Amino acid sequence: MENKITVDGLTFVPYITREEIDKEVKRVAAQLRDDLKGGNPLFLCVLTGAFIFAADLIRETGLNDAQIAFVRYSSYEGTTSSGHVKQLMGLKEDISGRDVVIIEDIVDTGLTATLMVEDLKKRNPASIRFATLLHKPESSKTGFKPDYVAFTIPPKFIIGYGLDLDGKVRNLKDIYVIQDQQD
Ligand code: 5GP
Repeated sequence: MENKITVDGLTFVPYITREEIDKEVKRVAAQLRDDLKGGNPLFLCVLTGAFIFAADLIRETGLNDAQIAFVRYSSYEGTTSSGHVKQLMGLKEDISGRDVVIIEDIVDTGLTATLMVEDLKKRNPASIRFATLLHKPESSKTGFKPDYVAFTIPPKFIIGYGLDLDGKVRNLKDIYVIQDQQD
């Protein structure tokens, strides 16, 4: 693990090691395995940030009948008065009657998560569960509570293990925090 990483002129320091990530991913996977035993859930990996977490998580669940699909939330300037509109993209699967497990990288304000669950409910799934690598409850603007959380963290900007800065550093095996936000 590097002691320091500089990206776009910002310095980041180690925050969560790959060993800690591995341990918590296994813990969440075991919960999912217990909760979904015998089922064939549909995992919905939210691109782009969750792809590494999703890959590790679903392999640890041992749920061989599970399927995986990839969705994305794209922001665009809408014509409505609210201005900014987010839209769920890429979901072609019929989710009616399915046990859906959303896999997200991080829940910050909870706005994306809330929108996504509302959108998916309209498609009549049997159940919806929400798993996230990271949760920043102090940043919540919605009171959204994920069902499965690998790490609860304070409102600090972090990168690595799928999370980016300007599209970069998703490949880092450990999670880093911006230096001036370190304790
Ligand atoms: P929310 O709708 O919960 O505010 O936003 C969640 C999204 O914000 C995440 O999927 C992620 O793209 C971005 N985000 C929030 N906090 C962080 C962070 O600490 N680091 C990075 N790289 N992205 C973040």
